[in-house]
Amino acid sequence: MRDISTHIHPQTNLALHETLGPTIMMRGEGAYVYDDDGKQYLEGMSGLWCAALGMSEKRLADVATRQLNTLPYYQNFAHRSTEPAIELAERLLKVAPVAMSKVLFQSSGSEANDTAIKLVWYYFHAKGQTQKRKIITRHRGYHGTSIASASLTGLPHLHRDFNLPLDGFLHVTCPHFYREGLPGETEEAFSTRLAEELDQLIVAQGPETVGAFFAEPVMGTGGVIVPPADYFEKIQTVLRKHDVLLVADEVITGFGRTGNWWGSQTYAMKPDIVTCAKALTAAYMPLSALLISERVYQGMRAQSEKIGVFGHGYTYGAHPVACAVGVEALRIYEEDGIIDNVPALAARMQAAMAPLADHPLIGEVRGVGLMWAVELVRDKQSKEAFAPDMQFGLGVQNRAFERGLVCRSLGTGIALAPPLICTEEQIDEIVARFTQALNASLDAYSASGGI
Ligand code: PMP
Repeated sequence: MRDISTHIHPQTNLALHETLGPTIMMRGEGAYVYDDDGKQYLEGMSGLWCAALGMSEKRLADVATRQLNTLPYYQNFAHRSTEPAIELAERLLKVAPVAMSKVLFQSSGSEANDTAIKLVWYYFHAKGQTQKRKIITRHRGYHGTSIASASLTGLPHLHRDFNLPLDGFLHVTCPHFYREGLPGETEEAFSTRLAEELDQLIVAQGPETVGAFFAEPVMGTGGVIVPPADYFEKIQTVLRKHDVLLVADEVITGFGRTGNWWGSQTYAMKPDIVTCAKALTAAYMPLSALLISERVYQGMRAQSEKIGVFGHGYTYGAHPVACAVGVEALRIYEEDGIIDNVPALAARMQAAMAPLADHPLIGEVRGVGLMWAVELVRDKQSKEAFAPDMQFGLGVQNRAFERGLVCRSLGTGIALAPPLICTEEQIDEIVARFTQALNASLDAYSASGGI
């Protein structure tokens, strides 16, 4: 009752919440969380794809406490700095997917992407190309929910009722071969067609008006959309041709999620700006970062010199407690071989997920590293999805929750993204509980005359 009468829940049916009420999580241990009845759940989504080191990494708690007791806050405006911010910037530049020049810290993924848009504009201002402002992203991409980052996002329910996207934010086809490939088309021909679509859009808009293309290496919230192997190579050829910057949104894919430190490495992306958050602190503190190339930095430097100030910044950007936690998280990823171990866990996950391709409800099993999804279909042959108002995916998600597994229904898919510290046995258990939830959903659907 206290929650219902006081607390608004994002991405939630607010009216339904008044009936259902909250599930209150009380504590966490490794890959598990426990609710206020003491019921245990395997956190198969790492929270919101972020708690990469699980729920009880003492080193992160200790370093936060130490920093809170030393210098709990300081700003980084006007030439001020802190040791944790400097060390985290150094560490990020060392592990960056391509040579990067500088790091700018913010607090959330939305803020990082919002800022990346501003940097694209600022950079082209510095070059005197003030018209180069339009931003292209993909349908089903997710980049946040601030006004500008929601405009980058390509999900209709985040636009409808808010009059978004803003002008100048354009969306191209999602690289999901299963849903968007044409009959008889190969994956290579599909990527070529998508690159041509991008080329035609830039030409139609006028290359002098297009500033950047934002892309998640693997789309997360759009349903774990793994692009064809050559997709980004072809897309980048088009971007280079028209001097359009590439911003890699690594908010989910950064720090091992795809099996390498960065999704940009997995998909041979050469971004001008990388945005990251979530696993940057393993979610123990809110923090995001932009890794900025020398080319973009030189533009920023020149423009700020001309104007006298780089006119951007947040009170909590480079928060020292968050940065101290980030430094420790990066140490753990490196020293404990957490990221090195992802390919082995990914192989286990792949082996466990593969048999689901034969499940009557599943049209496609897809994933890379430790981000996976199944595509729910009413009919395997025609690939017909369930009607959205059936909320079939939500039913599977709820049945999994009853069985002590957190997974996430996303559009026509259901996602799993376990913490990187999972054991192989826990991965098997996640997929086993997930399969039980699918089977229970199939039974209920059959009983209602569905199949
Ligand atoms: N980009 C991506 C790829 C994301 O997955 C998210 C969050 N799920 C964001 C940006 C936005 O991050 P935040 O919720 O921290 O604003």
